[in-house]
Amino acid sequence: MKDLKLAGLKTARSAIEVNGVTIGGKEIILMGGPCAVESSLQMSQSAETVKKAGGKILRGGVFKPRTSPYSFQGLGLEGLNYLVQAAKEQNLLCVTEVIDAPSLDLVVDKVDIIQIGARNMQNFELLKLVGKIKKPIILKRGLSATIEEWLLAAEYILAAGNPQVILCERGIRTFEPSTRNTLDLSAVGVAKELSHLPVIVDPSHAAGRRDLIASLSKAAIAAGADGLLIETHPNPAEAVSDGPQSLTPEQFVQLAEELGVVAGSVKRVFTCGGQGGTLEALRTQIDRVDQSIIELLADRMQIVRNIGDQKRLDRVKDISRQNEIIQRLVNLAADLQLPPDLVKRLYPLIFEFGVQSQIKSKLAQDKELDSSLYTFGSK
Ligand code: PEP
Ligand code: MN
Repeated sequence: MKDLKLAGLKTARSAIEVNGVTIGGKEIILMGGPCAVESSLQMSQSAETVKKAGGKILRGGVFKPRTSPYSFQGLGLEGLNYLVQAAKEQNLLCVTEVIDAPSLDLVVDKVDIIQIGARNMQNFELLKLVGKIKKPIILKRGLSATIEEWLLAAEYILAAGNPQVILCERGIRTFEPSTRNTLDLSAVGVAKELSHLPVIVDPSHAAGRRDLIASLSKAAIAAGADGLLIETHPNPAEAVSDGPQSLTPEQFVQLAEELGVVAGSVKRVFTCGGQGGTLEALRTQIDRVDQSIIELLADRMQIVRNIGDQKRLDRVKDISRQNEIIQRLVNLAADLQLPPDLVKRLYPLIFEFGVQSQIKSKLAQDKELDSSLYTFGSK
């Protein structure tokens, strides 16, 4: 794509490091909070939820570019203070949206990340302004913007001197009315193919309804997103904006508990509750991992049984295949800082139970065959 002189993919992908949080690395970064900052209590409760879920960044709009001029426009400076204070209490970073030069001036020294909303994606003067600051920018995709237009908007920021741009897919306008927008997950892959910039996904503004947020979040991670920006509110029914798409605190934490497995399946990491949680939180994590281990072993055993159906009884045990698997897993364990001896001791046991189960089912099949032949012969 022409003109992506700075945003275009070169050799390596960019990771953006901001006050100890890396966006675009192996870890999936969860950002959450209400659409609009409403009160100090609402923000401290939201920050608690985000922390509990293992989120790293608290969101909250204090300048709201609303479709109707009569809708709540945000609390401005007062709201900014609630956002910053709540993030500090929970040791989270914070992000808020700016809409023009005065709002940028007001927030720039107080927040960690600045958001440019969908409605301002092609506000070129604003893009040039945020290109002059030294803070990461989350650049939302415009309501009807093509991927090319979105990347060129990023190029404006980069060309003005700010290399720290995080792209955010938040759904685009289509003919489909059952959701607020249509989440374009292929845009994650396309943007990552064309650009080195990290890409996050906001499923909340895409769906417009909370029942779809969990599945869209998981799909976004599977599609390669580097992070998620999700709306949550202590009491969505009372929210002044975007209540129907905001998760309850319980739903937000529950979703976070389910993200680790999805992240792991695409070689990424997400830890609910963050590193160094309480003893109870860490034990909950271990229980979840143990459950996954047993479920995966059950899946493995089922495959072993299926394979058994295709083998002759005298070929059930295949030593060279076993050695090959152990060697591969010993190398993997070393890479993952797991003692290779654990693999060397565990896998012979797993193989033994697999072989036994194959032999048992072969013998049972043979017996069945014998008895049906006998029945047939004795007629
Ligand atoms: C928001 O994040 O609250 C928001 C207004 O999002 P968007 O710009 O994607 O509509
Ligand atoms: Mn919103």
